[in-house]
Amino acid sequence: MPNRKFADGEVVMGRWPGSVLYYEVQVTNYDDVAHLYTVKYKDGTELALKESDIRSQSSFKHRKSQSSSSSPSRRSSSRSRSRSRSPGRPPRGRRRSASQSREHKDDKKKTFQETSLALPVLVLFKPSENNTKRYNGEPESTEKNDTSCIILEQKLKPDLEVKRVLEQYSLRSRKDDKKKEEIYSEKKTFVAVKPIEKVPTKTKELEFGGRIGTFMLIFLLPATVFYLLLMCKQDDPSLLNFPPLPALESLWEGRVFGIFLLWFFLQAVFYLLPIGKVVEGLPLSNGRKLQYRINGVYAFILSAAAIGALLYFEFELHYLYNHFMQFAVSAAVFSLALSIYLYVRSLKAPEEELAPGGNSGYFIYDFFTGHELNPRIGSFDLKYFCELRPGLIGWVVINLAMLLAEMKIHSLSVPSLAMILVNSFQLLYVVDALWNEEAILTTMDITHDGFGFMLAFGDLVWVPFVYSLQAFYLVGHPTTITWPIAAAITVLNCVGYYIFRSANSQKNNFRRNPADPKLANLKFIPTATGKGLLVTGWWGFVRHPNYLGDIIMALAWSLPCGFNHILPYFYVIYFICLLVHREARDEHHCKQKYGLAWERYCQRVPYRIFPYIY
Ligand code: NDP
Repeated sequence: MPNRKFADGEVVMGRWPGSVLYYEVQVTNYDDVAHLYTVKYKDGTELALKESDIRSQSSFKHRKSQSSSSSPSRRSSSRSRSRSRSPGRPPRGRRRSASQSREHKDDKKKTFQETSLALPVLVLFKPSENNTKRYNGEPESTEKNDTSCIILEQKLKPDLEVKRVLEQYSLRSRKDDKKKEEIYSEKKTFVAVKPIEKVPTKTKELEFGGRIGTFMLIFLLPATVFYLLLMCKQDDPSLLNFPPLPALESLWEGRVFGIFLLWFFLQAVFYLLPIGKVVEGLPLSNGRKLQYRINGVYAFILSAAAIGALLYFEFELHYLYNHFMQFAVSAAVFSLALSIYLYVRSLKAPEEELAPGGNSGYFIYDFFTGHELNPRIGSFDLKYFCELRPGLIGWVVINLAMLLAEMKIHSLSVPSLAMILVNSFQLLYVVDALWNEEAILTTMDITHDGFGFMLAFGDLVWVPFVYSLQAFYLVGHPTTITWPIAAAITVLNCVGYYIFRSANSQKNNFRRNPADPKLANLKFIPTATGKGLLVTGWWGFVRHPNYLGDIIMALAWSLPCGFNHILPYFYVIYFICLLVHREARDEHHCKQKYGLAWERYCQRVPYRIFPYIY
């Protein structure tokens, strides 16, 4: 069932963005991802509005009949949507002071196509009667329609402005509304008479090839992992040299499964330790915010200490290399069992806790993409835990095991240069992810995708066993690289890392605190949701600079393996496909969220990931 209160075609009262005024609008669409209604005003203007900015007509009538503070005739005239009562104009009775008028005159001269971060300005536009363009909060340029721009508020107090912009999909907080109400409106606005009934959202647009695609992926993903691992074990891992299938009984060993379980539950214990700060995630569809403990770095340090202790007591870590396939099978079996558990428990989850992307009503699709958004056992968040802990830290441990296996098998006193590079680059990547753990709370994985087979298998099998393919390859296929080549590859990795980190930090800092003085030189396009879209800096270079940096790093991880086989390049090839697909998904969501503002952003920044190429 869709999680919406108003149906398509319904005539309701919609709040004009940034004002306290409500106008009669017709609902034309609902975006169940962004939880925004597209509504059409009588003059043809279209806007994306939050549910809390929409009221039923009956609640207005109800209130009207109750109220005696203002005359019904005055009230009804104020509701009529005519040019003279445009939402862009201040309500009748509001007097402009002389200084305000002066400010207004001056500010009309300004161009608002780009808003400097240093000067937060809230502007409203008067939609002209023949304006049929979709309006999405983005200011039009003064060249186009200077007189239509009315500045209601300028130089907001920084903290108020920050609060306003940070409120996801919210135009402003109720507290701010109250202030604006006192200043700009002679009348009180209406309050919701009835509590909002939550109607659950259905996933209408199926991704990953829909039911057939997700059904096939459930088999294709494990098959790919086993194919890659079998190939890597061969002396000649050429694509045409198909590996012989191993005996079934050789794939399973109880001890290996026990070690896997031990690792998983050890990570769970580290996650539960009351160390590290607790932060709030983004608001859910019901307005609630979940709390998350940020202690990934501590978990990594404790894991390193545990592995160090094992090595000290001469536990042979290359046991992992010898039983690599069995470990992958154990992880796959565990992730399948976890996915079944997640799906079964999701059947009892309240509708409002289901994932926007995994509530299609089709078993196979919801099982794959994840039906429940944030499955938790008490305060233990299963998805958040699996995203960064057992698999990601496990990847580093596997790489270390490969390094030790290489030394042992080839009787080396020090690991090869190629192995050192692969280990160091990927260690940097994992530590970076853990160091910036909080940033994961705003990713699609946490906010949009449910926890199902896709993420369970991805986090626990794909990441540790496929991402460590280069190190696994190097054990069986030693590669010699010279120091100058190693230096060149290191520079490439550093360039990729620099782009990746600075792009991610720029956006995260901007989302966290748009008024940060460090970001004052950046420009952004405001949107109706209250959030801006950066158009300078990294996000003005291409639309996904972080993906570009990530792909450059992926290439640097493969290059130490030489050019004898394509197998170690699987990661970079797969990763380009993954990020191109992910970018398309994200574009789709952003277009729904930001409408015209997103289109303007795309015009300003035409390339998606690779400048002048794509
Ligand atoms: P991104 O960090 O790329 O975030 C995309 C979001 O950023 C959009 O939905 C939008 O969200 C916001 N945004 C887009 N354009 C702008 C702009 N111009 N200004 C401000 N905000 C903007 O999402 P991902 O979760 O895909 O990636 C996070 C990181 O993880 C990346 O570095 C990626 O490379 C990496 N990654 C790694 C994987 C791996 O397996 N190694 C797999 C997937 C990702 P909103 O406006 O709502 O804030």
